[in-house]
Amino acid sequence: MFDFTGRTAIVTGAASGIGEAIALELAVAGAHVIVSDLDADACGRVCAAILDRGGKATPCVADVSDPEAQAALVACAEEETGALHLAVNNAGIGGAQAPTGEYPLDAWRQVMSVNLDGVFYGMRAQIPAMLRAGGGAIVNITSILGSVGFANSSAYVASKHGVVGLTKTAAMEYAQQGIRINSVGPAFIQTPLLTDNLDQEMLDGLAGLHPAGRIGTPEEVSAMVCFLMSDRASFITGSYHLVDGGYTAP
Ligand code: NAP
Repeated sequence: MFDFTGRTAIVTGAASGIGEAIALELAVAGAHVIVSDLDADACGRVCAAILDRGGKATPCVADVSDPEAQAALVACAEEETGALHLAVNNAGIGGAQAPTGEYPLDAWRQVMSVNLDGVFYGMRAQIPAMLRAGGGAIVNITSILGSVGFANSSAYVASKHGVVGLTKTAAMEYAQQGIRINSVGPAFIQTPLLTDNLDQEMLDGLAGLHPAGRIGTPEEVSAMVCFLMSDRASFITGSYHLVDGGYTAP
């Protein structure tokens, strides 16, 4: 459906769930994907899956909450392929569940450092490389919780609202220099982030919150991300795109 031949793409959090689906779809569509996550073996597994399908991939371990690791990730992309054109800042964590008045301070910092600082550090390293490449596209993964609240998740909700505003601001700054920057807000998606933490009864309860009557799949999020990264989205920048089965419609 899309053609990313000749483009290099960084995907963070690419060894699981939504990031893995995005890495696979970008690679099948011709991109050389820098598969980045915390665990080297997991990055290697996704790269092997891409190579099996005839695609191009390079593993690169990086903690998105470390600005030096983000700079090294961009350097890896440029050294491997000559330029960086695309980036998906996807890595994220759920964090502790507690009312705001009792929210643990260390959990707050941890969520912010991965979900919000991580996107800032990512773009801060990626944008100069994309300017060197003559332009590019960035998608930041936020959530439906970038626009509505969710009890007992103040850090997560605040971090995801932050990503929406950060995306809009950076998009305005670089719109005339050939870099488009958008965010994507999934509702509840069937990934280890959910399935490792919730039993089937809880998953069924979450499904009922969506007018579609189910939670989504990683591939349904990837479809939106790949569209926004593609030249078909050439007039789309600074906006926040929900993939939510109607969750925020009521
Ligand atoms: P996932 O299956 O847990 O995958 C996230 C990946 O990111 C994991 O491989 C994780 O590694 C990695 N990661 C965690 N901290 C990192 C760090 N500091 N640096 C680099 N990588 C790190 O989660 P997912 O559901 O695909 O979520 C992907 C994104 O979508 C997140 O931003 C999440 O907030 C967002 N999202 C998810 C849902 C949902 O319902 N699933 C809904 C809305 C938005 P480890 O496994 O080793 O921690």
